[in-house]
Amino acid sequence: MIVILKPNPDPVQAENLIEWIKGFGLDIHTSQGSTHTILGLVGDTTVIDIDLIRAMDIVEDVRRVQEPYKFANRKMHPQDTVVELENGTKIGGGHFAIMAGPCSVESEEQICLVAERVKAAGAKLLRGGAFKPRTSPYSFQGLEDEGIRLLLEAKRHTGLPIVTEIMELSQLDLFADVDVIQVGARNMQNFSLLKELGRTNKPILLKRGLANTLQEWLMSAEYVLAGGNEQVILCERGIRTFETATRNTLDLSAIPMIHHMSHLPVIVDPSHATGIAWMVKPMALGAVAVGADGLMVEVHNDPPRAKCDGAQSLTPDAFDDLTASLAAIRPGLLDE
Ligand code: PEP
Ligand code: MN
Repeated sequence: MIVILKPNPDPVQAENLIEWIKGFGLDIHTSQGSTHTILGLVGDTTVIDIDLIRAMDIVEDVRRVQEPYKFANRKMHPQDTVVELENGTKIGGGHFAIMAGPCSVESEEQICLVAERVKAAGAKLLRGGAFKPRTSPYSFQGLEDEGIRLLLEAKRHTGLPIVTEIMELSQLDLFADVDVIQVGARNMQNFSLLKELGRTNKPILLKRGLANTLQEWLMSAEYVLAGGNEQVILCERGIRTFETATRNTLDLSAIPMIHHMSHLPVIVDPSHATGIAWMVKPMALGAVAVGADGLMVEVHNDPPRAKCDGAQSLTPDAFDDLTASLAAIRPGLLDE
């Protein structure tokens, strides 16, 4: 981090600033230009509040030369992280996995039938919401504990690992046998939840917030990593823009950029990104083309009667067609 002082700074204020910075355990290299004094901060500057320095009277500007995320930073960890599930399924570093299933778990018949079909089509994980973050309090809120029980039933049935969303800390005990804990877009910055998940040994699927930058997203991943849990999978699920033709705008540029910024695997959810079933396949193909490490796709046995997100849900037949197309453009992809 470099701090540029205004011309002719008050020497007492400058000395106070330098002492304050040194109090964080940092060294300072001072360079005196013809008009400006530049302080180069050496050490772990992640502890410093950049806005606090910027607000000081004698400071003209502050620039970070190093990103505020450490554990998530590719510079600190050049090799790709490979997240490995209990059954040996791997995601990242050349390993590709599709997570598929209904938006919400609705019944044993529904979840078991969808699980069998998505497994047969090449999915490696079963998704399904038990706790649903709905915009309206009058919409279906999920089967909650019973939904988790039914997911575990489908797991026993098919052998597919399961991924499901946690909405608050008090639910954590229910996730003991869940393979991947999902943190939804609306909770991406629930920092107390992220801290607690950092203390677990479960892989965490961290969805991008509705209007969050890539740096904010990586800072949220940082919370989990800093707690000691290195198994984080990022999921791009579309962001809010001015466009209304699609539910969200799928930011495919996030995939190569995240791979550049971080070593963490990143997957794409074309279902929530578009909100439209027929758009899921072209965007999934695009996601694979830009290097996504996997996909999360909503599949429902009877989309018109789905309790949640029917409009964006593929039928099992349409999911068969999607995975066949993926295998056609990238032979071997589903086995990577
Ligand atoms: C979901 O995957 O079920 C979900 C609610 O997604 P998001 O958090 O991306 O809206
Ligand atoms: Mn959904």
